[in-house]
Amino acid sequence: MNEIQLVNLKKQYELLREEINTAISSTLENSKFILGPETCKFEKDFAAFCDAKYSVALSSGTDALKLALSTLGVKRGDEVITVPNTFIATVEAIIGVGAKPVFCEIEEQTFTLDVKKLNGLITEKTKAILPVDLYGHPCDLSPIMDLAEKHDFSVVEDACQAHGAKYGGKMIGGIAHATVFSFYPSKNLGSYGDGGAITTNDEELAGKISALRDHGRLTHEKYKHDYIGGNYRMDELQAAILNVKLKYLEKWIEARRNLASLYSKLIDSKHVRHPEEASYARHAYYLYVIRSKKRDMLKKFLLSEKICCEVHYPLPLHLQPALKFLGRKKGDFEITEQCSDTVLSLPLYPELEEKEIMYISDKINKFFK
Ligand SMILES: *Cc1c(COP(=O)(O)O)cnc(C)c1O
Repeated sequence: MNEIQLVNLKKQYELLREEINTAISSTLENSKFILGPETCKFEKDFAAFCDAKYSVALSSGTDALKLALSTLGVKRGDEVITVPNTFIATVEAIIGVGAKPVFCEIEEQTFTLDVKKLNGLITEKTKAILPVDLYGHPCDLSPIMDLAEKHDFSVVEDACQAHGAKYGGKMIGGIAHATVFSFYPSKNLGSYGDGGAITTNDEELAGKISALRDHGRLTHEKYKHDYIGGNYRMDELQAAILNVKLKYLEKWIEARRNLASLYSKLIDSKHVRHPEEASYARHAYYLYVIRSKKRDMLKKFLLSEKICCEVHYPLPLHLQPALKFLGRKKGDFEITEQCSDTVLSLPLYPELEEKEIMYISDKINKFFK
């Protein structure tokens, strides 16, 4: 068996080669490189996919998080509640707009924000909650939206790992005030460079973000600027590539879910805990993440067998050197820390073959025997 990668972007490209190459060359022929017809089409189609009224295509997920927060009015001195087990971009966005991140413990079944632990964290300075749909599992949005209404703050959902996840049978993207996606190449929907988007049902918010990403232009008048914005545009080539891939996204999510359930069926050891799906959720399985107290030994073994695997994430944010100034310490978030010590992501991508899942599962079962 050749090395099995965690994700294999080349395999996907080979299957789409002709379509992708045609999309790239027609964009070159058309030579509308910024905010052209492909970007316009992608915004319309991605909003429809997410069951949201609007989507704005942007330069990256990180920029999208920042724009969502700042456009919703989050500023210096405000507090934004988020989780300590996420990729650092979530917190970079909060600090980037001058606000203070306030960490909330996660719920151990789903790895997402535990609404029951929000008590005491909401203050008069709380301007937003930024929950994360980690590994593709949606957070429990409904009680968070209720709290937002009661306390008058915004909800920005970090769905950078969760394209295609559903909450209560409804696609995520139109439930929170703003939902943020990343099109980093390895994500469920990935470009061939950087890209991101915000989806929302709020017309005014979408219009303002659309202007802010393009030097504050509200209209097509090139040198009339209604806001001080910046350049956070998605480029047309990435949009052309995403337009090809978006057509396959639903099929890919189904493939991810089938492969995940095959893993859960085949890996059979009392030392391994499978990922779970809350009753409200359709998990989009960006990552298939098992838990084991013998994680480090298992990881070493799998790597020696040329099966790639990775820890997402080995050091929670409250313990990161860059965030020392928040004054948190080991022991502050027990469930998050337990997860960091036990999680392991196994290879998962739509083109992965069932026989590879069988091979990996078999290796894991044998390791624990
Ligand atoms: C990938 C990711 C981001 C950032 O997205 P970029 O497009 O790489 O800037 C933010 N949050 C989470 C949880 C992510 O996984």
